[in-house]
Amino acid sequence: MFLAEPQPTPYDLRFRWLGIPIRVAPWFWLVVALLGWNLTPTGEPDGRYLLLWMGAAFVSILVHELGHALAMRFYGISSYVVLYQFGGLAVPERYASYGGSARGGEDPFRELVITAAGPAAQLALALAIAAAVYVSPYGLPSVPYLEYVLPLSQGQPFASPFVTLGLFYLLLASVFWALLNLLPVYPLDGGQIVRNFLVLVQGSAGIRNSLIVSMVAGGAVAWYAFSRQQMFLGVMMALLAISSFRTLQAYSGRRGW
Ligand SMILES: [Zn+2]
Repeated sequence: MFLAEPQPTPYDLRFRWLGIPIRVAPWFWLVVALLGWNLTPTGEPDGRYLLLWMGAAFVSILVHELGHALAMRFYGISSYVVLYQFGGLAVPERYASYGGSARGGEDPFRELVITAAGPAAQLALALAIAAAVYVSPYGLPSVPYLEYVLPLSQGQPFASPFVTLGLFYLLLASVFWALLNLLPVYPLDGGQIVRNFLVLVQGSAGIRNSLIVSMVAGGAVAWYAFSRQQMFLGVMMALLAISSFRTLQAYSGRRGW
């Protein structure tokens, strides 16, 4: 359900980077704006900070998808990137000829590398920025999770609040997007990483076991999110857990279990 590419519209932004065609659907900007409208120093909406946040989230999610796209190129698969309301997609050009299986699905190790490359690129971006700030005399507001690896709150603020917030937004978007996508829940990257890993070590039983992992992990994260009043995350994870359960039923039925 998350993997359907949106129809092209006249409002799409199109360009190429590193030789990879990129299309940004208009809904991408709306959802990014909704996610960050109150991420300001005071919590009050501010158009300038909102534009800065949208730019930072755009760069971060683009780096994630370029990670997938460049890993595909490494394996000789050309692809294009689409940013849309659910984030981003790196779509292999040969997608259609594989009859719908994610990226070919014949070589689980290759699939694992391609899937891991997205969050890895994004975390590498975050760590590079954080390391540069860490060795500089400057500091940033602490970034959840990253602060355990590289605490950045020591040091003087940058002269311009836009530099401080621009870097903070880049780190925040990269860390959260990468970690969210690494949850072992279908169809997130983490769910696909677990599937390919289990198929590598267990053969075809790995698919069924990865669906069980996805169902349990999705349910657990949903429960955690609801208990902390994070309704959006909770509903999303509950839906993904149910979807994994249904897929497991269908898959088990087809395989005669
Ligand atoms: Zn990804």
